Amino acid sequence: MSEEIKVQLTATPGEKPDSQKLGFGKYFTDHMFVMDYHKDKGWHDPRIVPYAPIVMDPAAMVFHYGQAVFEGMKAYLTDSGKVLLFRPDQNMQRLNCSNDRLGIPEIDGDFVIHAIKTLIEIDKSWIPTEKGTSLYIRPFIIATEPCLGVRSSYTYQLIVILSPVGAYYSGGLEPVKINVESDYTRAVRGGIGFAKAAGNYAASIKAQENAKKDGFSQVLWLDAIEKKYIEEVGSMNIFFKIGGKVITPAINGSILKGVTRSSVIALLQEWGVPVEERKLSIDEIFEASQQGLLEEVFGTGTAAVISPVGELHWKEHTMKINEGKIGELSQKLYDTITGLQSGNLPDTRNWTITF
Ligand SMILES: *Cc1c(COP(=O)(O)O)cnc(C)c1O
Repeated sequence: MSEEIKVQLTATPGEKPDSQKLGFGKYFTDHMFVMDYHKDKGWHDPRIVPYAPIVMDPAAMVFHYGQAVFEGMKAYLTDSGKVLLFRPDQNMQRLNCSNDRLGIPEIDGDFVIHAIKTLIEIDKSWIPTEKGTSLYIRPFIIATEPCLGVRSSYTYQLIVILSPVGAYYSGGLEPVKINVESDYTRAVRGGIGFAKAAGNYAASIKAQENAKKDGFSQVLWLDAIEKKYIEEVGSMNIFFKIGGKVITPAINGSILKGVTRSSVIALLQEWGVPVEERKLSIDEIFEASQQGLLEEVFGTGTAAVISPVGELHWKEHTMKINEGKIGELSQKLYDTITGLQSGNLPDTRNWTITF
């Protein structure tokens, strides 16, 4: 795609939020990127417009059959005042993988990255500067055709919105408590679990709410069929360090292929830490815990980067990990990835784009 992006700037720029109170996804910048799709025209009319509500037909297919996919990435401001993106090509590849599964037309990843860069340049003053803060980027695609027939929509809209977000952990990395979910299922092989689709979250909210009520911050999902093999956490992939080896569930068709997950695997391999991608049962973890071999557990995802797990609850069992403190490897991974993202560590792997 080479169509020029039309830009319409806002006449009423918003007030910037207090950088101490950002939280996650509560504030939005002055502009958004929008692009339309029609089956006879392809993707067209890329534009940057003032951030505003969108008008949609109540029969728009996304409201009825849920054709909606999204991505989540971040822009960071480096010490030298440049904007840094971390592996955005991976997010675009994944967006197309999600599109394919949900019958949504492919996007031109390079063009969307160009659009995101143009949008960020316009709203650059919204990137918070305090340590640990960033500008969250949320591209998403929805089916817009007004039609109640069940089939793939003929029209779509791709929208990119930006949200200044706070440091995930205000006071250093805090290990979380996680409940192993034994009743509900998030996704099943052959379904849409590997796509970053809105529907996966709809399926997960009830268990997440129950876990919150019981004092846990997240749920750990098991496979849908045997309720035995580890899948992933809410919006993170998960890693276990058992007897010196790091193990994470293999990509199996029902979990999301996290960009942070692949970055962690690549770093561990570089560092010579044994890392395995394979099936991993909850029994194996419980046994390791009983034998004192469960050394570290951590989640990986764009929002928190590395989220150490201090306690795992499974049925009537409580597994304490590393006395509820962050492990050495978790800390090293966190420091390395956030160092690359802030531009403070040299990028020797071609993972970052600065502009
Ligand atoms: C986004 C997401 C992740 C993490 O992926 P990253 O690319 O590392 O941010 C993990 N699991 C689910 C279900 C997700 O939606």
